[in-house]
Amino acid sequence: MKAFEATRVFFEEAADQLNLPNDVRQLMLTPKREVQVQVPVSLDDNQITTFIGYRVQHDNSRGPMKGGLRFHPAVDLDEVRALASLMTWKTAVVDLPYGGAKGGITVDPASLTPKQLEMLTRVFVDQIHDVFGPRTDIPAPDMGTDAQVMSWIRNQWEKYHGFNPACVTGKPVEHYGATGREEATGRGVGILTLKLIGRLGRKPAGTRVAIQGFGNVGSHAAKYLSDADMTIVAISDVSGAHYRSDGLDVHDCWRYSMTHSSLEGYQNSDAISNDELLSLDVDLLIPAAIGGVIHADNADQIRAPIVIEAANRPVEPEADRVLHERDILVLPDILANAGGVTVSYFEWAQNLQLYKWNLNRVRQELDHVLSEAFETVWQRANESRTSLRTAAYMVAVERVHDAKRLSGLL
Ligand code: NAD
Repeated sequence: MKAFEATRVFFEEAADQLNLPNDVRQLMLTPKREVQVQVPVSLDDNQITTFIGYRVQHDNSRGPMKGGLRFHPAVDLDEVRALASLMTWKTAVVDLPYGGAKGGITVDPASLTPKQLEMLTRVFVDQIHDVFGPRTDIPAPDMGTDAQVMSWIRNQWEKYHGFNPACVTGKPVEHYGATGREEATGRGVGILTLKLIGRLGRKPAGTRVAIQGFGNVGSHAAKYLSDADMTIVAISDVSGAHYRSDGLDVHDCWRYSMTHSSLEGYQNSDAISNDELLSLDVDLLIPAAIGGVIHADNADQIRAPIVIEAANRPVEPEADRVLHERDILVLPDILANAGGVTVSYFEWAQNLQLYKWNLNRVRQELDHVLSEAFETVWQRANESRTSLRTAAYMVAVERVHDAKRLSGLL
C-alpha cells in the first residue's frame, strides 16, 4: 500500500468513529499546498545535476505548520504527503499550537561532499524560502539532515528575510538550538513506554525489550529504558542485529556505535538478522528505524504483546489489523515519537523570546506534555473501546476539526 493511502486508512477509522461527513474528510485529507521545485547544483565544474525537492504543507488550522526535511533517495511526493499528514495528527494529539508539513530532496546525502551538501541545501532554500518561516511553516531535521543542515537553512533564509532563528528548529545547541532536542524523541519513547506498562500493571524490572534501529531515536530509547531497569535483549542497525538473552550493555553498544559509526562487528552479543529481531519472544518490540517493517507477511510472526512505534509508519494497515486481532497492543507513531516535535516546539518558543531554557526544564516540560497526551489517548481508547491508534487519531482529528469550526472554516 502506498504511504499516503496507508495514513488515510488510519484517518478513516477515526473519522468513522467520529461520524465525520465525506466532504469534511476530503477537506481534512487534502494538503493545503504542495510545492515541488528543481534544485540545480554544479557538483563539478562542467556539469549541473538537477535534484527534485518537495515541501508539502498539509494543514494549518491549529497554527504554523511543522515537520522535518528528509534527504534520502526514496523521497517522493506520495511519501512526503503521507508524512506531512502524520505531522498534522501528531502535533494535534500532543496539543501543540501547530499544523503539519514535511519536505525533502530525492538524494543520497552520503554521495555528496559536505560542500556539495551545503550548496544543495542553500539552493533548495533559494527555491522555497518564501513558503516557510517562523509563522507559516517551520522545518526541522529528519532522515539525512542534521543540526548543521538546519544551520545552513537558517543562514540562507535570513539572507532574504532578516534575523529570525525561529524559522527552523533542530539547530546546533550552541547556535539557537534547544538543549535536549537530540535525545527528545528517544526519551519520549521511553517516557511513554513506562506510562503504558504502568497502566498495564507491569514493572520495568524483568521487562524484555527488542529495538530495531540504533540511530538517534533507537539509541536514546534504549538507554532510557535500560536506565529504567528494563532488559534490552536485542538492538540492530542497518548492518544487522545483536542479541543477548541476559541483556545487552546498551551504553557499551552506544560507545561502540559512536566509535565505529555502526554496530557492525560488535562482539558482546550473538548476531541475528533484523527479521529475526522482529519475531523475538520479548515483552516489548520497538521498531525505531524505517517505515513498513511490520507488514501483511510477517504480522503473524510478531510474538511481543506490545509494539511501540518509535519510527514513523513501521506497521502497515493490513498488519495493524492482524496485530489488533491477536490482542497485540500498539502504541501509535503519532503519539510514541512525538517527543521530538515537542522539544522542537520548545526550541521555537525559546527562539521567539530570545530566551534559553536549561535541560532540566526541557525534560520536565516534555514529561508533562507527553504524560497529558498519553492519559487523554488512554482514556479515549477505553471510552470508545478502540485501539490506541484509533483513539489517538480521534483525539487529533477532533482537535483539527474543532479548530476549523472555531475559525469559521466549517
Ligand atoms: P537515524 O538515521 O538516526 O537512525 C536510523 C537507524 O535505523 C540507524 O541505526 C540505521 O542503521 C537503522 N536502519 C536503517 N535502515 C534499516 C533497515 N532496513 N533495517 C534495520 N535498521 C535500519 O534516524 P532516526 O532519527 O533515529 O529516525 C528513526 C525513525 O524515527 C524514522 O522513521 C524517523 O522518521 C522517525 N522519527 C525520528 C524523529 C527524530 O527526532 N529523529 C522524530 C520522529 C520520528
